[in-house]
Amino acid sequence: MKQLKILTGITITFAILFTACKKDISTDTSVAPQVVKADRLAVVSPSTKISPALRDKLAKMPAGYEKRLANNPVLSLKIQSEYHEMALKAMNVVESTPCDGNTLLYQWLDKQIADWDGETLFWAAISGMLSFPSYDALFFENSSANQFFGVNQEYTHRVTKTFGDLQRFWNIQSNSIVLDAVHGNMLHDRNKLIRMDMILFGDSQEAAEYWADLIMMLVEEVPQYRNGNHPIFTFNAYAQSTFDFPPYGKIPDKIVIGDGIMEAFSAIGYADVAPQAIAAHEFGHHIQYQLHLLDGQISPEATRKSELMADAYAAYFLSHSRGASMQWKRVKQFLQVFFNIGDCAFSDDSHHGTPTQRIAAAEWGYQVAENARKQGHILPAQKFTALFNAQLPMILKQ
Ligand SMILES: [Zn+2]
Repeated sequence: MKQLKILTGITITFAILFTACKKDISTDTSVAPQVVKADRLAVVSPSTKISPALRDKLAKMPAGYEKRLANNPVLSLKIQSEYHEMALKAMNVVESTPCDGNTLLYQWLDKQIADWDGETLFWAAISGMLSFPSYDALFFENSSANQFFGVNQEYTHRVTKTFGDLQRFWNIQSNSIVLDAVHGNMLHDRNKLIRMDMILFGDSQEAAEYWADLIMMLVEEVPQYRNGNHPIFTFNAYAQSTFDFPPYGKIPDKIVIGDGIMEAFSAIGYADVAPQAIAAHEFGHHIQYQLHLLDGQISPEATRKSELMADAYAAYFLSHSRGASMQWKRVKQFLQVFFNIGDCAFSDDSHHGTPTQRIAAAEWGYQVAENARKQGHILPAQKFTALFNAQLPMILKQ
């Protein structure tokens, strides 16, 4: 175990999970990386119950392995992630804010990793398994064909139907948007793991093979990882605008939804509405891209505005008689979905709005749809956006 040094006392920057929501992809490294509380990372203790083969594999970790925890340029590619902050907080590697613990979603996630000790977290973080599934979907799942949603495909119908409804509902060009899933079973695919390791960490073939084999052994052997199906590996949803990714080519516009976030919302009682609400919110970000509503500014205020706007687009679609046409009972449920993903990180660039502001934005979107219910008219996205902008000061007072 010589190479698995105790990392306590060292400040480690952490960019394993995605950083930020609502930014186009960029290689800007000026955004401060997450600071990990290093005492969460620990060595393999003699009492750890793992096979001799895995113990041997861990002992052969290549020199310089700790650099994988550093903020590396490729990992600082900024892509959308609605939930990564919550995952980091639940893992106790970044500080929580006072209102985090109030939501069922956060409490549920916290419970899911209650049995993760320092070693379990360390292996997940150092190996890359926390981020590989989402990055694989980002770079290599570039077609909506054959996508399924949920570990057992249980959300496929609703997500794909909602996506089709959204495309018909909003007056933007949405034919080129790809709808993708993130699955933990990617962690069993050696070739995909090798490819992702080489991209994200710049490793040689040999080193990448080591990490791929280690990940496969870990997910098969360590019960906390649930054979790769632990929701933390896929606790993610994002909207991404198209970008060039040489030498692999052009990455299309896409909406990506992870199994983990669906599982979480189902577990706390929102299975009936969450898939539609998540898809509608992410589609809202594509409205923003296409109408150039985001000026590229990165600030807590800019992020909050774009997130609340996406909530409002979503609520309008979900409750409109020509959208998902949800009745008041279900509308109240999806208001809770948005309540559950609010945060209190007021000064953080990833701030999505407080839970009450997110409900206010969604309630307002619902009211606009309700007022139009009789005539059945769908507002053009441009018009709806102008109404939202006029309402925003009231929403922020919540
Ligand atoms: Zn968002």
